Formats: sequence, structure tokens, C-alpha cells
Amino acid sequence: MDYLTSPLELQRRCLAWKHQGRSIALAPTMGYFHAGHEALMRKGRELADTLIVTLFVNPTQFGPAEDLSSYPRKPEEDMAIARSLGTDILFAPTPESMYRPDHTTWVEVPALSTVLCGKSRPEHFRGVCTVVTKLFMLTLPDFAVFGEKDWQQLAILRRMARDLFLPTTLVGVPIVREPDGLALSSRNAYLTPQERAEAPHISKGLALARDMAAQGVTATGELARAVRQYWAKWLPSGREDYLEFVNPESLEPVSRIQGNTLVATAVYLGRARLIDNMTLSA
Ligand code: AMP
Repeated sequence: MDYLTSPLELQRRCLAWKHQGRSIALAPTMGYFHAGHEALMRKGRELADTLIVTLFVNPTQFGPAEDLSSYPRKPEEDMAIARSLGTDILFAPTPESMYRPDHTTWVEVPALSTVLCGKSRPEHFRGVCTVVTKLFMLTLPDFAVFGEKDWQQLAILRRMARDLFLPTTLVGVPIVREPDGLALSSRNAYLTPQERAEAPHISKGLALARDMAAQGVTATGELARAVRQYWAKWLPSGREDYLEFVNPESLEPVSRIQGNTLVATAVYLGRARLIDNMTLSA
């Protein structure tokens, strides 16, 4: 595995591989690897001849009051994990090399970026779309792998790739969870033992809605009430940012479950803001 920090060196290497006819899979991450990231790397390894993993805590996707400076990092361990999973290049650039001082170009998908997480993180997805576009231009990937934990991110990036005719296939990887149901996240490191004990109830609340829908309860208002009642009892330290039932592609709210519906949430728990989602059908 090669460790690169220079964007143009990465691009030179990828262009050479493309000319040789080698296919490329890209797995963008912010590091502090866990089994969710590993699932992305395994998927990427399976899809193409070459696997590029990027590790970049992208400043433009953090709001002014968010956790950019305290975001957890363990670069040495991350490097060992990426190497053990057959990564060809681990790319870890500096913010300055990705954003010149007079950087002024942004990529936005406004319609899907103002709902769900976009309400409390108004510039987040503009930062995500911009950095992913840069990474795509540097690596020219045939495939790019993203976790379904960040469902909204994946929906936005799919729309972006379609609208801009990007020649990359976006591949979603199912959410990897702890045995107790908590979705793996680098931000789980912020949880105190008490918060960690409550955290699995985020997904258990969503699973309750999923089970009720499967049993024929289709009014999303009723499902939301049941989830909130469950959380009031079992997740007393949590503060809901949002709980919504939406069309999985358009992310528009639905009042009844018809076909597949996504239930998505973000919950503040201590210092952490945790997201999760599940697909429901009646
Ligand atoms: P992050 O480093 O948190 O920005 O995540 C990098 C990629 O890993 C994103 O595509 C995430 O959706 C994905 N990811 C993070 N956590 C999980 C998880 N628990 N299961 C599956 N994918 C995940």
C-alpha cells in the first residue's frame, strides 16, 4: 500500500492506471476506522482491480459550532487496517492542499440538501458534494462506495452523479451495527458509558416503527408517536433533531407507508449527534 498526501500525485497515479485499463474503486472516509469503514473497503476491493481509500476530515462539511477540531483520529491504526484489507493507495491530504486559499468553486444539490440533516447542518452537503467531486476528479473511479448509514448523503451523491454525467457507479453498503443494534460511527467514541447504554434504543425505536408497519400500521404520524413514546422511556438523555418518514429517493415526507419508505433520524446524545435509518414497507 502506498500512502499519498499530494492530490496531483494521486491523480497522476490514477491516470496511469486508467491508461493501463485498470479499474478503480474509491472509498471516501474521514478515518477513525471501524467495521463500517471496513465493509466499504471490502466492497471496493471486490468491485475493482484497484482500491483507493481516502482519509480526510473535510473542513467544509462542518458547521462553525461543530466538532471539526475534536473529530477523533487514529492515523497509525487506520493505516494498518487499510493495508490489511488490500488497499492500494491510502490518500490523506492536508486541508490546504484540497482547498487553495482562493478556492471558490462549490458543487451543490440544493433540493435534497435542505431536508433531514440539512435543516440543522445547512452547509454540510455542499461540503460533501464538493469534496467528493474533487476526489472523483483526482481518482476517476469506476466505482465509489458509500455507507447507507448516511442515506441522505448517498441519495444526494447519486443525484449529483446523474445530473453531472459522472462516469462512476455509486454503490451503497448496508449499515454495520454493534450486536446491540447501535449503528457503528466514529462519533460513538464521544459517548459516556451511560449514553452508550441508551444509544442502542435509537435503532430499537426505528425497528419498532418497522415492525408496526409490517403489521399494517401505515399512518406515519402514528408510527412517529410510537417511536417518540419508546424513546421517552428508554432514551431519556437523547434529544431528537428529527424523526421523519420519507420517500427513499426524493426524501419527501410521506403520510402513509406505500412501497418502501425510509424512516430516518438524528439524535443528540451528550456530545454526539447520531444518525440512523431503516427501510419500512407495509
Ligand atoms: P465517515 O468516515 O464517517 O465519513 O464515513 C465514511 C463512509 O463510511 C461513509 O460512506 C459512511 O456512510 C460509511 N459508514 C460509516 N459508518 C457506517 C456503518 N455503520 N455502516 C456502513 N457504512 C458506514
